[in-house]
Amino acid sequence: VPPPNCPADVEQLGRATWTFLHTTAAYYPERPTLNQRANMLGLLNALPSLYPCSHCASHLAGNMKDHPPDVSGRVALSRWLCERHNDVNERLGKDKFDCAKTDERWKDGPNDGTCD
Ligand code: FAD
Repeated sequence: VPPPNCPADVEQLGRATWTFLHTTAAYYPERPTLNQRANMLGLLNALPSLYPCSHCASHLAGNMKDHPPDVSGRVALSRWLCERHNDVNERLGKDKFDCAKTDERWKDGPNDGTCD
């Protein structure tokens, strides 16, 4: 693991980005306004053009063409994002994440209170 004051590598950048995206989806409104939907769509659509890992960005572009973002509400958005992350996990040979556990992981924490 590189020292914390070094520029982010692909792995660190990935972890930080997934943390931001999953957490933002977990707190996205269940009934977003038109403005919130448009802003979320803008945020997600910017990634294939701006994400600073070019091969990651081009994979994401292809994936988002096949699976356009669902910004209709927090549950749908969280599920869509979990599936996109699982597509990356699969491509990298990592385990798939159980999308039923998205809120527990990114919003509520486990029932045993270890994160409270
Ligand atoms: P991460 O995959 O970063 O996950 C962080 C945490 O999220 C996990 O510990 C787990 O608790 C949770 N989690 C895992 N899967 C899910 C899920 N499906 N839904 C919700 N939570 C989940 N790396 C490459 O080498 N090549 C690429 O092409 C590539 N493309 C990427 C594209 C994007 C858009 C992003 C954001 C990252 C990409 N990465 C890529 C980085 C890669 O996805 C990982 O972030 C990195 O390898 C570090 O992995 P990690 O095992 O620490 O956990």
